[in-house]
Amino acid sequence: MDIERTTGLIFNIQRYSIHDGPGIRTLVFLKGCPLRCEWCANPESQLGHPEIIVVPNRCIGCGKCIAICPEKAITSTPIGNVINRSRCTVCGICVEHCFAEALQIMGTTKTAYDVLQDIEGDDIFYQHSGGGVTLSGGEPFTQAKFTFSLLKLCKERGLNTAVETSGFTSYEIIEACLPYTDLFLYDIKHLDCDIHKQHTGVENSLILDNARRLAAKGANLTVRLPVIPGFNDSEENLVNTVEFVKEIGVTEMHLLPYHRFGEQKYRQLGREYKLTVMPPEQERMESILKMLEKRGVNVKVGGN
Ligand code: SF4
Ligand code: SF4
Repeated sequence: MDIERTTGLIFNIQRYSIHDGPGIRTLVFLKGCPLRCEWCANPESQLGHPEIIVVPNRCIGCGKCIAICPEKAITSTPIGNVINRSRCTVCGICVEHCFAEALQIMGTTKTAYDVLQDIEGDDIFYQHSGGGVTLSGGEPFTQAKFTFSLLKLCKERGLNTAVETSGFTSYEIIEACLPYTDLFLYDIKHLDCDIHKQHTGVENSLILDNARRLAAKGANLTVRLPVIPGFNDSEENLVNTVEFVKEIGVTEMHLLPYHRFGEQKYRQLGREYKLTVMPPEQERMESILKMLEKRGVNVKVGGN
């Protein structure tokens, strides 16, 4: 396999991030995820193919996109232009003709080498801060060959690597990437299998099993729990999660308070944001932290 030429579908590369791993990092967001978490803040990551997003407040109403779309998929409405997704072939013609950049394609095919070039440009920042690259998504392991290739290329250049994962993938895929991954930011969303399936679309058994196996192999794992009020913030589930983390030998756990920052992206994709709960107050997070912090695991609030 020519790892430099392996291609992946990327929807964003975010530089100078101080979240999602140590130091200053470049986050590479891959498209495609097998889960459908109701609180997902990156809905543009979920489908494994490119999509068009509409940013209404940038639209100047020139009508070019409507006139030029070969599929007649765009309609002007009082709330802005709407794309009929069953007609849209994602040909990108409307995007090319929208000078206001109110239409954008989410998902570009890039080689691992091209992405590496983007990442390496900030090497000086990584060196001074102990940072590196974090693959995120979506679920990076759904693009197994690309993720493997990019991690290997980064490690060959001496870069620190991290992967944000749902853990919902075959163990063999993760194991192949293990020698090239300095840190796994590993989501565990709920310990009850049925509740997990109800709110994410998949069972949790593969996720828990992979966490167990990775930890037994000596992988550097930080478990992350997105704290979603009414879903996984009961004392029973929180304590069970910490006990599971301790049992598999992981010492770091991050609590990520739910937020609604991704809400407008649903509208831009023509989808509905269904979750109605409000983000937890700071006092609530502090009381959760207090409840969990003396249980033999380093628990903190936040993603770093
Ligand atoms: S081309 Fe762009 S600015 Fe013009 S109507 Fe379409 S979305 Fe709006
Ligand atoms: S991407 Fe192509 S098919 Fe889709 S709305 Fe734009 S012009 Fe029409």
